[in-house]
Amino acid sequence: MSSTRFTVIRGGRLLDGEAADILVAGDAIKEIGLPGLAAPEGAEAIDAADMMLMPGLVNAHTHGDASLAKGLGDRLSLELLLNASPLTSERFRLEDKYLAAKLAAVEMVLSGCTACYDLFSEFPAPSPEGLAAVGQGYADVGMRAVVAPLMADRSFWQAIPGLIGSLPDALAAEVDRVTAEPAEASIAACRRALKEWSIDRDRVRLALAPTIPHHCEDSFFRACRELADEFGVGIHSHVAESKVQAVVGMRKYGKTLTAHLDDLGILAPDFTAAHAVWVDDDDIRRLADQGATVAHNPTSNLRLGVGIARVRGMIDGGGLNVGIGTDASTCSDGLNMFEAMRLANTVSRIHSPDPADWLSAEQAIEMATRGSARGLGFDGLIGALAPGFKADIVFLDLNRIQYLPLNHAVRQVVFQENGSGVKHVMIDGRLIVRNRRVLTVDYARLRDEVVCANDRLRLENEDAARLVRQLEPLVGQFCVGLAKEPYHVNRYVGA
Ligand SMILES: [Zn+2]
Repeated sequence: MSSTRFTVIRGGRLLDGEAADILVAGDAIKEIGLPGLAAPEGAEAIDAADMMLMPGLVNAHTHGDASLAKGLGDRLSLELLLNASPLTSERFRLEDKYLAAKLAAVEMVLSGCTACYDLFSEFPAPSPEGLAAVGQGYADVGMRAVVAPLMADRSFWQAIPGLIGSLPDALAAEVDRVTAEPAEASIAACRRALKEWSIDRDRVRLALAPTIPHHCEDSFFRACRELADEFGVGIHSHVAESKVQAVVGMRKYGKTLTAHLDDLGILAPDFTAAHAVWVDDDDIRRLADQGATVAHNPTSNLRLGVGIARVRGMIDGGGLNVGIGTDASTCSDGLNMFEAMRLANTVSRIHSPDPADWLSAEQAIEMATRGSARGLGFDGLIGALAPGFKADIVFLDLNRIQYLPLNHAVRQVVFQENGSGVKHVMIDGRLIVRNRRVLTVDYARLRDEVVCANDRLRLENEDAARLVRQLEPLVGQFCVGLAKEPYHVNRYVGA
């Protein structure tokens, strides 16, 4: 006798506007059919009248560790955010790592995101225990995640040529003391974590995130590639996010960052390039030829003032796969995939007066679901409502004002939904959110734990905060200088 649990979702509408019932068997969609679809006896019925059913959004790029650092800064460039990174999670205890991941997961599921690629940072290096705690945070909420330890063997200040030398002696000595762990230690920790991983890999799995090309020695990247191949996991790195990075890359490698990674043998179908704002046509061709994914994070790009990626050129120029991400709570700022999806669509319009060059609503939703899913390594499993796919389903409340009246489902989801219409969220066939409440988490307790941890961290970070504030004008000025150097592509408007 089969013990499969059946659920039938009745009376909902799909994104094409059609009424449909969905039969879920265990964790997957078994059948989608006309209203009145036959279901096995004993199947649990969920009433989806006045609701639109869409695939869960997939966040292609975020950093769960930053969820405790909301409101960290205002006019911060990417480089100033990196300068302030000691204030994000450097002092985390093991329980803080679990808590930060859980908080991020709760925020995401409440706004209709059912899976994410989390580049979680541990200081000074990843640990199997830390990664397990982060994974458990997601597992306890019931959200799907790829957890990739963010790694480097150079500090931010060491990675930018000339930066430390430009600082007054006392400050230079302070930042020079901050050294990253050797690559061997990080790789060994990842190897152990990959071997010992005990969480269901269909739900939460590991990947590797050597953070930024010039923050890591070439040998570090090669070691990541070997480890990724050995364990069949992905690699995710920030590639040409800012003009500063593009300029530094060209100076250091004599070629673009993408060409450098390609020549090192890092690009592959399991590789995600986050941002890819300052990439040229050859870079796009290389990424596409290797079957890689770009994680486009328009909210973050706007917030950090790094310019806007030319996504349309990526999709057209050789069919590069593009997913959409929010990036971190310190730069997106909400982990809201509806917002990211809408911005991805609207900012595509700054590059050309010809509407044929802009992204369509359909393309935006495709990137935020199937595109991101491919980046996470879940291609064909999540990102669509179809038989055989995991039952990761968002129920949107059609009584909300954004759907009054309902004229075009896809357009109204992309252009008008802000997450407030999310009523229920199902992941792996189980309701995680019902009537806008996360069922798997005691929210009051989570709130108390977050406030308590944050109060402690603020005290512990006082000295670090003083140093960050002293460095800020100097680092800012030096990096703006680099950003004013000529580069062969331009991603600023009106520059
Ligand atoms: Zn990032």
